Amino acid sequence: MRIFYFWLLLFFGGITQRYKGIGKKEVLADFAYFLSSYLILLHELSHVVLGHCDYVQDELGFESLDEFGQDEKELSESEIRIRKAFEAEADRQAGEFLLAFLESTLGSQGLGQHIRFPSRKHVYEFYTYAITLVCVLLQQLTNRKGNIHPKPNERQYIILSGIQKYFNNYQPDQFNMIHNHVTLKMIEAAKNTGLIEGSDPKDLMKTALSLSFVDDVVKETKIKDYQLSVK
Ligand SMILES: [Zn+2]
Repeated sequence: MRIFYFWLLLFFGGITQRYKGIGKKEVLADFAYFLSSYLILLHELSHVVLGHCDYVQDELGFESLDEFGQDEKELSESEIRIRKAFEAEADRQAGEFLLAFLESTLGSQGLGQHIRFPSRKHVYEFYTYAITLVCVLLQQLTNRKGNIHPKPNERQYIILSGIQKYFNNYQPDQFNMIHNHVTLKMIEAAKNTGLIEGSDPKDLMKTALSLSFVDDVVKETKIKDYQLSVK
């Protein structure tokens, strides 16, 4: 996994060379774009790392983990539940990887280098909007249809709530400040960008409760036995 982070840093380091001489708004827009692109890549890698690809092949009899619903085999209710939980788990893991990437690009004070954010709250406000915009894009592309992936507002919640675990583990002194700020901003961002069922605190609570099945499936499937060991 260290090699993976190294690769990300190397890639991003090469890209930053191109930023010399262009405006800050463009850099900020590009940064949001890179975060979005990495999130999608990291989601797919998370399926591999978490053992989902092996599980659907060995236990469910599919040739591959199909993200687009084109597999001809009908899914049973229980298979849909498992696949949906895997998608949520991949989003959660991708969010954690993405935070490690984000933090590694922000310099020693955690405020950025080419772009200097006024405060840590501003960093995470930017991150919250970047993630929300990916979810809005998914909402536009899918019309909220499909029963394998969580709904776009659920994905926003899953990815952004990953901040709790990350800050708990690595920056506990900033946990409350960042967590409270992101919770407020994720509702605001949903409202400002049109993310359906994301802008009402009651919907947010409903979303949180509706996702409790994910950890049940993790236990029931013993998916951890399929996870790749990381050295
Ligand atoms: Zn997926």
